[in-house]
Amino acid sequence: MATQSKRRNSGHAPEERDDRSVDVLLRVASGPGFLPRDFKREEALQLQAEFEPLVQMAIDAPGELQRQEFSRRLGELQRGGLSIWLGSARLQSGKQTLVRYSSFRDMHARLSYALLLLAEEQAPYQRVLRRCELPSCNKFYLAQRNPKGGPANRVYCSPEHRDERHNSYDRKRPK
Ligand SMILES: [Zn+2]
Repeated sequence: MATQSKRRNSGHAPEERDDRSVDVLLRVASGPGFLPRDFKREEALQLQAEFEPLVQMAIDAPGELQRQEFSRRLGELQRGGLSIWLGSARLQSGKQTLVRYSSFRDMHARLSYALLLLAEEQAPYQRVLRRCELPSCNKFYLAQRNPKGGPANRVYCSPEHRDERHNSYDRKRPK
């Protein structure tokens, strides 16, 4: 318990920040309809044109994505795309602890970072990355275990979209 509250003092855990960056990348790649409202539409379209094929590649040809993009994106972050600096915080015990702050230069750098996470072999994202097969949706998402048991959502982003697609199959299927 004590250890947990100490950790909370140093801000978000790195994995949590990674999750958020990946979430933004998947939204941008999925199209302007999936973005938070404060996003500029023109910038979003430009970023989508660049990142949508790359996120698709993370599903279809992850090895190719790594060969093509890894060094390039890493270079962007190393040359000022991502800044990390250190601060400190005093714990209740009176001892000091390190606090790491990081910030991205711009949205492009943030998305490049998230793309690195998708291209990375060890990261958990690549294995669970999916694209909803309902044509009117086509959203990229991370498949998660069904909390109520049963299989993960590997084909459709939501139960609603699964039902919608299955109903339309039923209508089209000749009897
Ligand atoms: Zn969907």
